[in-house]
Amino acid sequence: MKNNQNKKRAFSLMELAVGIGVVGILAAVAAIPLTRYIEDGKGNACTQQLAEINRATITYVSINNVSQGDYSSTVTENAISVYLGGKIVNTDFKCPIDGTYSLGTWGAGDSGPQDPTCSCSKKEITARLHSLGNK
Ligand SMILES: [Zn+2]
Repeated sequence: MKNNQNKKRAFSLMELAVGIGVVGILAAVAAIPLTRYIEDGKGNACTQQLAEINRATITYVSINNVSQGDYSSTVTENAISVYLGGKIVNTDFKCPIDGTYSLGTWGAGDSGPQDPTCSCSKKEITARLHSLGNK
């Protein structure tokens, strides 16, 4: 009689422990690439935002006929915010990896405004900026 009751149980404690252990190992294995994808996603978001800052800067310079000599005094985070939906760079238009954006400069020898940069650890950002249709 007692033996019959035991056979009705679906899983023994040991089987459950092994099952939970296997699921835990699979979850841990899946979490490693997931973390990397999340970091890549944040890096891509930063790159996209740099491209937006660059477009806003170029638009501002074009519309206001900003020359190389006026560039550093005219092109500011507040000035280009009009072309970023009213958002101000580094105030409410921030890097998702806690970097700090720097607007591009326009030195005497440069043919035009240089690309903005970010201080975050994603080194490939500047290289990818040009491949995002930022021409
Ligand atoms: Zn960044």
